[in-house]
Amino acid sequence: MPHVVTLIPGDGTGPEITEATRRVLEATGVEFVWDMRRAGLAMVEAYGTVLPDDVIESIKRNKVALKGPITTPVGKGFRSANVTLRKTLDLYANLRPAKTYPGLRSRYENIHLTIVRENTEDLYAGIEFQRGTPEQEEMIDMIARMTGIRPGSDSAMSIKLISVKASRRIVKFAFDYARANGHRKVTAVHKANIMKCSDGLFLSTAHEVAKEYPDIQFEDRIVDNMCMQLVQKPEMYDVLVLPNLYGDIISDLSAGLIGGLGVAPGANIGSQYAVFEPVHGSAPKYAGQNKVNPMAMMFSGAMMLRHLCERAAAERLEKAIAQVIAEGKYVTYDLKPRPDDPTAVGTSQVADAVIEKLRMMQ
Ligand code: NAD
Repeated sequence: MPHVVTLIPGDGTGPEITEATRRVLEATGVEFVWDMRRAGLAMVEAYGTVLPDDVIESIKRNKVALKGPITTPVGKGFRSANVTLRKTLDLYANLRPAKTYPGLRSRYENIHLTIVRENTEDLYAGIEFQRGTPEQEEMIDMIARMTGIRPGSDSAMSIKLISVKASRRIVKFAFDYARANGHRKVTAVHKANIMKCSDGLFLSTAHEVAKEYPDIQFEDRIVDNMCMQLVQKPEMYDVLVLPNLYGDIISDLSAGLIGGLGVAPGANIGSQYAVFEPVHGSAPKYAGQNKVNPMAMMFSGAMMLRHLCERAAAERLEKAIAQVIAEGKYVTYDLKPRPDDPTAVGTSQVADAVIEKLRMMQ
């Protein structure tokens, strides 16, 4: 039976990397029926939203989606399609492995980090108050009444929401993932020394959950210290579990440790649905140029294959990508010694090279 998967090319460079990824996934021999759904900036004129309802309906039907990045205009307009998707489908866990491969231009070797980021709350919960609005005035009055601290009338507010339920399930997800995939340690990352209520709750919940997993080592780190530790000795860390904002930042930092966003995959997983997508955004300045690296999305595709219980195909695909990286010939500009290297190939040529490696494995 072929796997029916919702395919969302996204916008910017999304369609190019999605096409490259679709091709290599099909070259693994696994059969797919792609339920193609359009989302992104081009949808705004026709539908008034970057995320038309049929995209959500398709994922609800198929349970699994492979998604290219979608642009979110800064500071104004509609809400991020990515945040909306994660909230609507309750994709509470954002899984971002960061692994070094021979041939990647990284300062480090032997990194195998897995970032587990909470995906539904924290400062991303969408509870915000715009400067100068009646709602913001009311919030200022209420805070002044309750705390004795009066925020300036020129201020805006974003509420940091941390709950026991969301903290518990993300930490459990991290431990279950660690156990199922042979990891030895989970590190909870927080700033509970300053945000004693919100991050304090995340941390105490993490400690509670850790007691249920005596076979896995548990520790915690304050987020600023964690950043320094990751730069100095990333090989000391294994699975990291973090609230939403720290998870977002640390996963980009981890992508930097292993050679850049071009090779950093991701997955958004809930109890019913899963959406696989690269960590990076739509890189709009390169749109339509057949330039950016499709490997982050290809590795996300390999994660999807594992989710679909196609483990052997996932391993073959990862091996084929790793071989192309190791040879260093058919790789995009970001994996070359200099970004203006004239031997860099384009997005679709990387797909050709990976497909060739897959063919040689048959
Ligand atoms: P970005 O990740 O799109 O790009 C930043 C830079 O990283 C690029 O200019 C490029 O130099 C490099 N880069 C990114 N992906 C690459 C690839 N595959 N190969 C080679 N180089 C690559 O980040 P941004 O510019 O901050 O964001 C652009 C847009 O994407 C924004 O609107 C943002 O909101 C959105 N975004 C979407 C998602 C998503 O859909 N999940 C995630 C992050 C950002």
